[in-house]
Amino acid sequence: MSNFSKTIGFIKNQFYKKSVVQLHEPVFFGNEKKYLNDTIESTFVSSVGEYVTKFEKELSILTNTKKAVAMVNGTSALQIALKIAGVKSDDEVITQALTFVATANAVSYLNAKPIFIDVDIDTYGLSPKALEDFLLEHGDLRENGTYNKKTNRRIAACVPMHSFGFMCKIDEIVNICKNWKIPVVEDAAEALGSSFKSKSAGNFGLINSFSFNGNKIITSGGGGAITTNNLILAEKAKYLTTTAKIPHKWNYEHSEIGYNFRMPNLNAALACAQLENFNKIKKNKKSLYEEYCLFFKSVGIKLVDIPKNSEWNYWLMSVILDNKKERDMFLSETNKNQVCTRPVWELMFNLPMYKNCQKDSQTNAKFLQARTVNIPSGSTR
Ligand SMILES: *Cc1c(COP(=O)(O)O)cnc(C)c1O
Repeated sequence: MSNFSKTIGFIKNQFYKKSVVQLHEPVFFGNEKKYLNDTIESTFVSSVGEYVTKFEKELSILTNTKKAVAMVNGTSALQIALKIAGVKSDDEVITQALTFVATANAVSYLNAKPIFIDVDIDTYGLSPKALEDFLLEHGDLRENGTYNKKTNRRIAACVPMHSFGFMCKIDEIVNICKNWKIPVVEDAAEALGSSFKSKSAGNFGLINSFSFNGNKIITSGGGGAITTNNLILAEKAKYLTTTAKIPHKWNYEHSEIGYNFRMPNLNAALACAQLENFNKIKKNKKSLYEEYCLFFKSVGIKLVDIPKNSEWNYWLMSVILDNKKERDMFLSETNKNQVCTRPVWELMFNLPMYKNCQKDSQTNAKFLQARTVNIPSGSTR
């Protein structure tokens, strides 16, 4: 217990003794106000404007992808990415149960069903070994893709998620999926700025998604984006998210049921300002992580390590306690003292709407979920 109270004191000190230390607060110390003001002065606050184009360009440069398309939020971006990857009604989509609910919801919006595969202990992300085991047992590779022997449904996509910004073993996952003709869609919502063997998150799948919600590493207020190296798919994403309107100066003609998912210029302005300080934000978070390394070592609590072969964006830091009882004690002590911490999300198959989904052993997901606590990780600037 005494190492818990030391922890509370230490964390409060890192955040300048703020009365309440949040899990992850956005920081605005750049051109945010200036750019927001620009949009108001110009009246371009809504669905058309230069900041959207600028943000998309900068995001594609940052992720080293050919094209980014900005959207209203990360969930919608993932939904569109899956749709464009070919997911249809009654298809199935492989993902992990240790994720934020949006991953599974995006699958459901397309009337497809998630299948939950276990994660790796060291990355908290989809396990290539578990994926391959599942496919060897249940996969039926046909001309037009892989079918699930148990349900006879097509497995139309695989969505690995880079938990807390840690890269999963994405190269192996991409290879396995290639052999089984399953398109990969990275849920890179948490991983902007992370990379695996020097290649950026959001640059591995056919089409991938990011989130710029207020709790993410940089924010547009609310927002999301897809990234891809396929210009045809990018164009399709833009088209679908702008009501599938056939471009014309004044005519309103639409060729299919599209979506109004585009990011407003107001939000893009905020995102552009945040991107300018992205390296500083990452640097501040890195030094916080280094302080945590020294401190947690000194009190004998295990800080979760950065996985091998990857560069981390330092988004969300966590400790791993010995058991669930210790975890619950840590959660209650910290939260009682205004240091916001939280457990990992409830595993998807424990939620009522996903309880009947197919899943494998989930040994690692259960182990990690019972022991891991996310700790305050915001930029301390
Ligand atoms: C934040 C997040 C999303 C969705 O983002 P929103 O912008 O909040 O819709 C999707 N997946 C994961 C893993 C996330 O953390």
